[in-house]
Amino acid sequence: MNESAQQGAAATAQVIQGEHDQHNQVASHALNALLAQMPAVERVIASPQAQPLIAQHGRTQVLAAIRATLDGWRRDAQAGTLATGASAQAPFAIERVIADADQALALRAQSALRTVFNLTGTVLHTNLGRALLPDVAVRAVVQALTQPANLEFDLATGKRGDRDDLIDALICELTGAEAATVVNNNAAAVLLTLSALAARKEVIVSRGELVEIGGAFRIPDIMSRAGARLREVGTTNRTHLKDYEAAIGARTALLMKVHCSNYAISGFTKSVELDELAPLARKHGLPVAVDLGSGTLADLTQWGLPAEPTVRATVEAGADLVTFSGDKLLGGPQAGLIVGRKELIAKIKKHPLKRALRVGKLTLAALEPVLKLYQAPEFLRERLTTLRLLTRPANEMHEAATRVLPALQRALGDGYEASVEPMLSQIGSGALPVDVLPSSGLVVRYRGKGGSGRALLRLERALRALPRPVIGRIADDALRLDLRCLESAEEAAFVTQLAELRL
Ligand SMILES: *Cc1c(COP(=O)(O)O)cnc(C)c1O
Repeated sequence: MNESAQQGAAATAQVIQGEHDQHNQVASHALNALLAQMPAVERVIASPQAQPLIAQHGRTQVLAAIRATLDGWRRDAQAGTLATGASAQAPFAIERVIADADQALALRAQSALRTVFNLTGTVLHTNLGRALLPDVAVRAVVQALTQPANLEFDLATGKRGDRDDLIDALICELTGAEAATVVNNNAAAVLLTLSALAARKEVIVSRGELVEIGGAFRIPDIMSRAGARLREVGTTNRTHLKDYEAAIGARTALLMKVHCSNYAISGFTKSVELDELAPLARKHGLPVAVDLGSGTLADLTQWGLPAEPTVRATVEAGADLVTFSGDKLLGGPQAGLIVGRKELIAKIKKHPLKRALRVGKLTLAALEPVLKLYQAPEFLRERLTTLRLLTRPANEMHEAATRVLPALQRALGDGYEASVEPMLSQIGSGALPVDVLPSSGLVVRYRGKGGSGRALLRLERALRALPRPVIGRIADDALRLDLRCLESAEEAAFVTQLAELRL
């Protein structure tokens, strides 16, 4: 651009700016008039309408919320985006300020950890908190949290106690093990076991068992964090006893088996069972540790569920140490249980990591009553929430779905069609995905033309936006709500809030 062209452009810009200023002057008069109508914060907080809010949330928060509302409106007015809506006559009426602040305060008061409806069909859903605790456990937790307790206090001697003492005899009774200890979760149990028994040494594991569990638990990574060297043997599909035997050497600390929790290797396969591996370990004076993952304390086949190795059977088959989760099939709180030989457990308990990974009193308070339910197996199916959910007969879910269907269809309107259909639930949390449980629930399909993908995502989002979010799953061009985990006591609450569905 030459010089005169530049001057010309600058002049044009000045003219435009001038018009702009004139326009702005008119606008700023209107704006000032509008802003002048805005009530002072002091007037709003002193108004009778503000008093119930102050009683509920306290003056500090109410004041901040009113300020935020007025500031927001002032910014909107300046930007010309103030939504005056139906009350254009009184855009800043105190009632409106209060209503806006009330909404903001209610949102702020809402807990981040929300109660949801788990209609995914996965009973032990890791992202939705795994096992639901029975009432006895809940009552014990409340008691332990609100009253002092003998957490680490020996009531017989009046001396300092060990928190494991509260629970280890019970765990031993239920598993047949000599000793036990409890840490925060099973990942911690494995980390601690390896740290205490195999640091700077080798641990022999089959290549078919190098598991990754969701959420970044991977056997090779845990091994290196524990300072142990992973000695892989065999191949992905086949590992023989001679593979283990050939790998045993002066540096070997431990033989380890890991339960293939979330996958199955099929076809031309061979793995070494514990009852073969244990005698080999014994011959070489080495311990065998088994990471059972979702170890169960009862034989699930008695309730028609898929077979899972019990902790007792694993101990009897020769495991020197067994680690398993508290909140998977066991049905208790998040915890990692380690059971096994006395001298090995003693070594584990002495390791400094044990102190870092120890459980709190909430966990122990919840775990004890859950374990005690296993002392009366006759009542287990009815009293242990996880087992009750897993064993619910499909016709119960079918009947519930039939009852709920009209309300759901009404909430969905004409755009979607709901029906009652059979479906398959999963146990979850490391039980085999191929082991499914016959169930029933609601299936919603999009009625409109074209692809249903976005319409189903919109529905899924609307269900999640309900006061108590509903979590389903989309599969085969339909949104599926498995009613296995909707127990009858919750059914009315589920139906009632459907009226609030906004699609
Ligand atoms: C689930 C699982 C873990 C991890 O247990 P958390 O209690 O979630 O820490 C470890 N190993 C196996 C085999 C598992 O199935």
